[in-house]
Amino acid sequence: MNIESKVYFIGAGPGDPELITVKGLKLLQTADVVLFTDSLVNEKLMDETKDGALVLKSAGMALEEQIDIMAGAVEEGKSVARIHTGDPAIYGAILEQMSKLFHRDVSYEVIPGVSSVFASAARAGVELTVPELTQTVILTRAEGRTPVPEKEQLVDLAKHHCTVSLFLSATLIKKVVKSFYEAGWAEDAPVLVVYKATWPDEIIIRTTLDKVDEDMRANRITKQAMVIISPAVDPKLVEQGGYESKLYDKTFTHGFRKGVVVDG
Ligand code: SAH
Repeated sequence: MNIESKVYFIGAGPGDPELITVKGLKLLQTADVVLFTDSLVNEKLMDETKDGALVLKSAGMALEEQIDIMAGAVEEGKSVARIHTGDPAIYGAILEQMSKLFHRDVSYEVIPGVSSVFASAARAGVELTVPELTQTVILTRAEGRTPVPEKEQLVDLAKHHCTVSLFLSATLIKKVVKSFYEAGWAEDAPVLVVYKATWPDEIIIRTTLDKVDEDMRANRITKQAMVIISPAVDPKLVEQGGYESKLYDKTFTHGFRKGVVVDG
């Protein structure tokens, strides 16, 4: 794709620099101005920027300052790559940027990325939607300083007993566990914690609701962690097998294959 004079919000993926999309990488390699969230985006990706590109870290900058830089560059006919961690659509704070750019008549486009929730599942080798166990994934966060709407309180979400993936909640794990107990989950319910998925210092913990707080503390995990609570993250499932999808069931007809009738 040819880069245009606009702001590209690009998902950098979870950490491993090879997990950015081909499109995201091409835009990063050709952008005139690059702004990246230095606390979470792998700095190695910045080796990809072209000579002469203006590369800036966004963590210390206020929103207005970032908008001035991005809008100013586009107004001069330049291209901007605004690099976000994971996928920009999840806790990426891009709406406020898009809104300000819209009001300055600056065009923008979003390029997706691999969210840390999917990188965490991949690293642990789990499927988040196991037939007959759970077919739903909730992406949410525990309520800390950022309020969560009344109708999305964790205890209510947890009542679905589906896969619940918690972002931004590592320091609130006690509260999380309490909500799950209140929602009727058992002490031995499976929990997966992935700290810095796909980074060299990644830690994967497979634990249970009653031990997760202790395990996270023992590993000093207070940030950059994905907590997935779900019957689907039970480490016994792979060995045990048995939860098979209709997709490959030979008696099930779907768009790509006609099912066979089995006697009886
Ligand atoms: N847009 C990002 C999420 C940003 S919010 C995404 O799609 O992944 C930041 C939160 O994401 C962190 O508190 C943590 O819960 C999670 N996170 C980001 N990178 C992570 C990683 N490499 N491993 C585990 N969790 C991560």
